[in-house]
Amino acid sequence: MLRTMPKTGDKINSLGFGMMRLPGKLGKIDQAQATKLVAHALNQGVNYFDTAYLYPGSEEATGAAIEALGCRKDVYIATKLPLFVLKNLNDAKKIFEQHFKRLKTDYIDYYLLHNISSYEQYTQIADMGVVDFLVAEMSQGRIRRLGFSYHGNRSDFKRILDARDWDFCQIQLNYLDEEFQAGVEGLAYAKEKGVGVVVMEPLRGGLLANSVPKDALTEISKLEIVQRASNTIAPTAPTTNSNSTSNTTSNANATPTSTTPATATTSTSESAATNQQGAHTLLAQRESRTYTPTPAQLALRWVLNNDGVICALSGMRAIEELDSNAQAAMDLEPGGMCADEVNAVEYAKKLFNEKIKVLCTGCGYCLPCPHKVNIPLAFAQYNNKHVTRSINATAMYITSLLTGGRREGASSCVGCHLCEKKCPQSLPIADLMPMVKKDMEKPYLVYPVRFALHVMKAFRR
Ligand code: SF4
Ligand code: SF4
Repeated sequence: MLRTMPKTGDKINSLGFGMMRLPGKLGKIDQAQATKLVAHALNQGVNYFDTAYLYPGSEEATGAAIEALGCRKDVYIATKLPLFVLKNLNDAKKIFEQHFKRLKTDYIDYYLLHNISSYEQYTQIADMGVVDFLVAEMSQGRIRRLGFSYHGNRSDFKRILDARDWDFCQIQLNYLDEEFQAGVEGLAYAKEKGVGVVVMEPLRGGLLANSVPKDALTEISKLEIVQRASNTIAPTAPTTNSNSTSNTTSNANATPTSTTPATATTSTSESAATNQQGAHTLLAQRESRTYTPTPAQLALRWVLNNDGVICALSGMRAIEELDSNAQAAMDLEPGGMCADEVNAVEYAKKLFNEKIKVLCTGCGYCLPCPHKVNIPLAFAQYNNKHVTRSINATAMYITSLLTGGRREGASSCVGCHLCEKKCPQSLPIADLMPMVKKDMEKPYLVYPVRFALHVMKAFRR
């Protein structure tokens, strides 16, 4: 399903390819496999490929795949400038030049300031002259669209959106994070301003695919999603020719769970009406097919059901995963999920939330803390750890709050209680912080992560 980037008119497939986790072994990307995946993605209509300077080997692999397939003009490449390694404008300029060599291109379609976590951080980068530099590069045609990816609180997100005329932005959004970081409120604000939103973490790092509570799985297994028949594209085999790329909604024959060959054509307006009704019987009359969604498909559909979302990024490592995502996304328009799907998501969300430790909504009203504690982010990763039982949450906590000269973790809290007066949830923040510190700031994890980042910086120099 193509969606239109509001400021630019670019037609972007609602399924975007996140190039961070390409297949490979021992940290080395398997280029042949990556190219095959990109070719298959093109045949599924995917045309937005998101990479970053900091994703190891990803820019090079993306550039090599696109060059081999001869499809540069048919795709949008997004990449990102890492902010935490920048000491001055020259650092930004050096990194900027490297993108072009790695990606084997002379222009970047969508360029992002990577991982802004506060308004203050944005102003520091802007004061360094980085934004002016990028705007100048836009006038030279080396960047087509300028945006930022974001992991801070909602109020700062709005301030950054107001700070300049952005083309697009990238936020974390999934059914567990409706109220976290920018959240659906931030999404609505971006839409109001005409800023297109690309969504990352639609599956919350795999949590919504692999760790869904058992009772919620039962509900999901009862769902039947109707996939309307479509013959808007003739099935094509993966190829290394750019002509293989089409701005199409789907390759109907590529879906592994299909039960009926696609034969009928439906107009966009018809499909919108059909989706809005979620009427299985009506769709059945059109020889459409039905399938039971996987938890991952349902989570992806929840993201794409939100008005204002242009595309959701998924890091896909296998053809089957790609096909499954394409099937979930292919004909869903905003507001198109049926009531049964919405209810199943609500139930899964309820069960997940029972495991969550702190009922922080991530609104950011408690900020600023006079001791610079990033309260919502600290609580978010603390919750993440208890829901996922994964070390990733701790690693994210350390890299987001304790590195790059930042001391924004729970250990900086002095228990002054000032923040509690501003918290709409009346959370006992000062009492919770020592628990967060104990759980998330274990020295045997903090020091190795800091060391690894230090080595990365040194390697870049
Ligand atoms: S109680 Fe802790 S987190 Fe809250 S304002 Fe004081 S130092 Fe900051
Ligand atoms: S601690 Fe309270 S005010 Fe702060 S982000 Fe969470 S819910 Fe909002």
